[in-house]
Amino acid sequence: MTNTLGFDTLQIHAGTAPDPATGARQVPIYQTTAYVFRDADHAAKLFNLQEVGYIYSRLTNPTVAALGARVAALEGGAGAVCCSSGHAAQIMALFPLMGPGCNVVASTKLYGGTIQQFNNTIRKFGWSAKFVDFDDLAALEAAVDDNTRAIFCESIANPGGYITDLNAVAGVADKVGLPLIVDNTSASPYLCRPIAHGATLVVHSATKYLTGNGTVTGGIVVDSGKFDWSASGKFPSLAAPEPAYHGLNFHAALGAMAFTFHSIAVGLRDLGMTMNPQGAHYTLMGIETLSLRMQRHVENAQKVAEWLEKDPRVDFVTYAGLKSSPYNHRVASICPKGAGGLFTFAVKGGYAACVKLVDSLKLFSHVANLGDTRSLIIHSASTTHRQLSEAQQVAAGAAPNVVRLSIGIEDVADIIADLDQGLAAATA
Ligand SMILES: *Cc1c(COP(=O)(O)O)cnc(C)c1O
Repeated sequence: MTNTLGFDTLQIHAGTAPDPATGARQVPIYQTTAYVFRDADHAAKLFNLQEVGYIYSRLTNPTVAALGARVAALEGGAGAVCCSSGHAAQIMALFPLMGPGCNVVASTKLYGGTIQQFNNTIRKFGWSAKFVDFDDLAALEAAVDDNTRAIFCESIANPGGYITDLNAVAGVADKVGLPLIVDNTSASPYLCRPIAHGATLVVHSATKYLTGNGTVTGGIVVDSGKFDWSASGKFPSLAAPEPAYHGLNFHAALGAMAFTFHSIAVGLRDLGMTMNPQGAHYTLMGIETLSLRMQRHVENAQKVAEWLEKDPRVDFVTYAGLKSSPYNHRVASICPKGAGGLFTFAVKGGYAACVKLVDSLKLFSHVANLGDTRSLIIHSASTTHRQLSEAQQVAAGAAPNVVRLSIGIEDVADIIADLDQGLAAATA
């Protein structure tokens, strides 16, 4: 399956062919832990990475591999590794690049859980993160030091309303010779393809738009295959003899597939953050309609944002699809098919009115999720961003007077009617 096919064709066909054993048209759920070797020689070749095949499902599984190949095709990457969650994908993206004492320079505009993971948990590995405003390119470049191993941002940033100038950030990454990792969860590859803007790795929470219906927890790392891991001497796991895999130099042996093979042979083998075949199957089913869903998410989000912006009970709306957004000019270059389905707005009456609104809505579900066919709402300051300081909440776009909407694909008139009655109750 070649990447010259259009997106709508790839989302259905990439990575899959009728099952060679049975002819099954849909991708079977290979619910198996292990695979019988043809003989001892075959087994030895598989373990030596001399032949590609299946050994054990912590490493690879045909259903999971089909999903990886499909998302790699949609993102325009060389390879992909599927993981147990979006957060697992972030660790898996950093794992081959980092070592004790190394840091990642990350945007301040990130999913709250990522700020938490980077601020505290990765310190247990001896890694650290520095947070910078990625609109200040000089500050971004200045934050990079000799121990920096990656630059990390989101394309359309959760909780919405912000679009990263990926071309400019990739320019800085190029200049300092470091890989750019882009979390493309909120945009999906239908709206934004970060590799085309210079990203090295793309990470996804498959939990969100890729699956699209709130049934799966999963993550994916896509490698562009374009970064020269050998050039700087800073990436010994990929470009020097790797002690964790009997001294194999992955970049020398596997070229553009070095990151993907390392992630499977060492990352999944030893960290075990593996996606299960049932989850991969649900995500494959979801991706078949990704473009259709994203078109409706964007269309509905635009209408709801425009309606809210005119409402006197609302202080401001942060949707980048609005002319009033300071990031509106980036839509055409970064996500030309639309600014996503996610945004925040401020309710007059602050924290108390936000909580009242959330409790008054009937169609919207109050959940800590996004990218569902259903419309969802959350008050970030009292939930996902609760552990952050107020300054961090404001920097992340999750101030106390703000609620986040994930606009679903229902009839837009019903979505607006629910918000109308909820705002009436909240500001009475
Ligand atoms: C949800 C989310 C994550 C984490 O993904 P999980 O699948 O919940 O682990 C990371 N980044 C963004 C932008 C997200 O929305």
